[in-house]
Amino acid sequence: MAGLFLKNISKAFGEQTVLDDISLEIGHGELLVLLGPSGCGKSTLLRLIAGLESLDAGEIYIADKRIDHLEPKKRQVAMVFQNYALYPHMTVEKNLAFPLKVAGLKSRQRQERVGLVAEMLGLSEKLKAKPGQLSGGQRQRVALGRAIIREPSLFLLDEPLSNLDADLRAHMRLEIVKLQKQLGISTIHVTHDQAEALTMADRIALLHNGRLIQVGTPEELYGNPNSAFTAQFIGSPRINLIKSTIENNVLVPIGIQVADFHLESAAARLLVGLRPEAIDITAGGDYTGIVRSCEYLGEHYVVGLLFGETELVASGSKQPYDVGNTVRFKFSQKDLLFFNEETGERIGYAG
Ligand code: ADP
Ligand code: MG
Repeated sequence: MAGLFLKNISKAFGEQTVLDDISLEIGHGELLVLLGPSGCGKSTLLRLIAGLESLDAGEIYIADKRIDHLEPKKRQVAMVFQNYALYPHMTVEKNLAFPLKVAGLKSRQRQERVGLVAEMLGLSEKLKAKPGQLSGGQRQRVALGRAIIREPSLFLLDEPLSNLDADLRAHMRLEIVKLQKQLGISTIHVTHDQAEALTMADRIALLHNGRLIQVGTPEELYGNPNSAFTAQFIGSPRINLIKSTIENNVLVPIGIQVADFHLESAAARLLVGLRPEAIDITAGGDYTGIVRSCEYLGEHYVVGLLFGETELVASGSKQPYDVGNTVRFKFSQKDLLFFNEETGERIGYAG
């Protein structure tokens, strides 16, 4: 049984197509991260699922039941927004109980559920406090609590962490994953932050210009991207994309035989992808580069290199290098990824 099934969903605002034929299945109890740049249609997709916008085309199923014709409150979907709106004049207890009151639960049942959720979220000591007396993290927890308290079938989180500072954000990522696993509720968590997606997701769905580019585990998107777009969006520092051409059966400027990589029938112009962490600066390397920058990140250095006319980034060096010096570097040929420069498609992608 699928937790959520989206079938051929499309949505336009006026002339602008915002979502273009999206199909996606989320397993029961799965945490799917919907990732993509700002404006690509992430919030619109959540609003369609919650029933806050209407579909132009397509169907939506929750636990095999079609729900796209139902009113929002009949869909058993809970949504948490970036700007979580708590009632400032109500205590934490009343904020948490409010959805239950609306749903018509009796006072005793309300108290019981509020107690359970507060306990789960570490808010038991704060039940009498008002939102203004809470930290950012505690307020975010109340917002999450208010969403889960009605035990929804589907949990939609729209960039719930983007207003928090970096430390708290990293902490809340783990808390959300823990809570989600504990509750076993199918969840879509939206973010534009690839690191957040990699750390939280069972699977990532990468959205760009209203189209799903790739859906897979964090490891699949990082290690086996289907396109230059995925390769560039996932991973930090960004993957190097080296503009290359095939001349006399050799790939220039890397100098490898195209036959060794089955590139004979590839486009004339390619992008060769090489992760910064796959480049090893070492005296015995086959390639030479001129050091352009050297950045200290605590446990390693990130070194900018000029390789012919291509700027490369190498990450992971344990020692610094002086700008202007020539160094040698190497990489394993199995770490090379090939893309059609024009279309961005991965050459030889096996999904
Ligand atoms: P994201 O959440 O990925 O940043 P959105 O789903 O909010 O993206 O928006 C996608 C596109 O749809 C944007 O270009 C935005 O301006 C447009 N859009 C969203 N909602 C509306 C609306 N109600 N009316 C018109 N355009 C909208
Ligand atoms: Mg949004």
